[in-house]
Amino acid sequence: MKKQVLFYAFFTFISCTTNMFCMEQLQQSKPGATCDIPVSLFRPTMQQSGIIFALSGPMFAGKTGTLIALAKKLKDAGIRFQAIKHTFDTERYGSGSSLCSHEKDQFPACCALNTSDLEAYYDKTAQVIIIDEAQFFDTPIVDWCRKLRAKGIHIVTAGLDKDCFKKPFGPMPELIALADPAHKIHLQSFCNICGAPADFTCRTIASQKTVFVGGAEAYVPRCAQHHTTPEEKTSQPVAITTTTTTPATEQPVSK
Ligand SMILES: [Zn+2]
Repeated sequence: MKKQVLFYAFFTFISCTTNMFCMEQLQQSKPGATCDIPVSLFRPTMQQSGIIFALSGPMFAGKTGTLIALAKKLKDAGIRFQAIKHTFDTERYGSGSSLCSHEKDQFPACCALNTSDLEAYYDKTAQVIIIDEAQFFDTPIVDWCRKLRAKGIHIVTAGLDKDCFKKPFGPMPELIALADPAHKIHLQSFCNICGAPADFTCRTIASQKTVFVGGAEAYVPRCAQHHTTPEEKTSQPVAITTTTTTPATEQPVSK
């Protein structure tokens, strides 16, 4: 009996230590910086089920940069993976089908418009599927991720959890709910007015559309105090200064 108690105590200590180590590994150093996702999590193991990551946050928080850093490490480690992004994002920064951060760092990827595309074209031999701009996909993506996880495939999703109206954005909140507890990562940026951690994306051009794809010419990160929605701006305009002149690309709204 005493041996069993000692064994249980030892097992609990090891489990807690391991969890603390993993959480520490996933922590982000500061708002706007990329988060280091350890490649060791994706090495083949005896486990039957895959891992689901959800990387959320406003624009300019380092989500795509984190995915690109992970893709480079997976490539170096020889782990078979596929990077996919939503078709809506192909014209921003002239990135085409590549993952492209706001710092213009790029990594080759393929594009999909909806979950049917994902199912048809995903690499059936990949151990890890990376999906950027997940907020633009349709809701069946949630069940699709669940299905792949059951097959032992790891999924890393990244996207905006809130749109510029501060409303839940597409399937991202559900993907966060689906993600493994230790693998929900919420990144922040810096408010472009006061410098405080920013959890919101503020649109700086006149459009009431939910989906309006753009970069620094159309959006800025804001804290709760300084964020304004497009509706609020219509009644009380806010002076914004941006340096980029690339025009934003308006997309059809499906919702
Ligand atoms: Zn602020």
